[in-house]
Amino acid sequence: MNLKEDYHVHTNYNDHSDSNLTVKNVVIEAERKGIEIIALTEHVRESSEWIHNYLNEIANCKKKTKVKVIPGFEAKILSDGNIDCREDIARDYFIIASFHTKYYDKAIWINALKKVIENKYVNVIGHLAPESSFQINTEEIEEFAKLLSKHDKIVEVNAKYKRPPENWVKIFIKRGVRFHLGSDAHSLSEIGNYASIIKLIKLFA
Ligand SMILES: [Zn+2]
Ligand SMILES: [Zn+2]
Repeated sequence: MNLKEDYHVHTNYNDHSDSNLTVKNVVIEAERKGIEIIALTEHVRESSEWIHNYLNEIANCKKKTKVKVIPGFEAKILSDGNIDCREDIARDYFIIASFHTKYYDKAIWINALKKVIENKYVNVIGHLAPESSFQINTEEIEEFAKLLSKHDKIVEVNAKYKRPPENWVKIFIKRGVRFHLGSDAHSLSEIGNYASIIKLIKLFA
C-alpha cells in the first residue's frame, strides 16, 4: 500500500463537492502533499454532458505537474450489474465501479457484483461492503476473492466509508487480490488523507 497514491478523488464537476475542488486545485494540492499518483474519478452517468470539458481540463493540468495524473470516473453499479457509463468512456478511461443504491435484495446485489467484476472495462471496485439488510458469509466472500483475482480487479481501501470490512480485506489478501488506496475526497483537505483507515492499512503490513 503506497500512502503517496490516491486513486479516488472527486472534483466540483459534481454538485456536492466543495466549490474550490477544481481539477487544477486537486493537482496543486496533490503536488503540495507529495502525492505521486492521483486519479480523478468524478461521478459519471450515461447522460453526463461535462465529460469533454473535464477531460480537457485534466489533460491541461497533467502537462504542468510532476504528479502522475490519471483521468477517470466513478460509475454506479446498476441492479442488472451494468454500470451507468457510456461504453466508449468506460473503455478508454480508469473506471471505479461502486454501489450507490441499496437494492435490499441479496441475490440482486451478489449478481450485480459478480457481473461488474467480470466487466472488462472496470478497473476497480469502489468502497465494497454488503448492504446492512443482509449478511455475506465467508464462503461467499471467498467466491468474490476468486473472481476478483481471476479478472484482475483492484479492490479499493476507501477512507471515506472505511471499507471494505476488515474480514473481507483479510480474506482478499490471503487470496492474492490486488488493492490500492482511495480517499474519496470531496474537499481539498481529504486528498491523500488516510487517517480514518489506519487499522485497515495495518492489515497489509
Ligand atoms: Zn462512491
Ligand atoms: Zn466517490
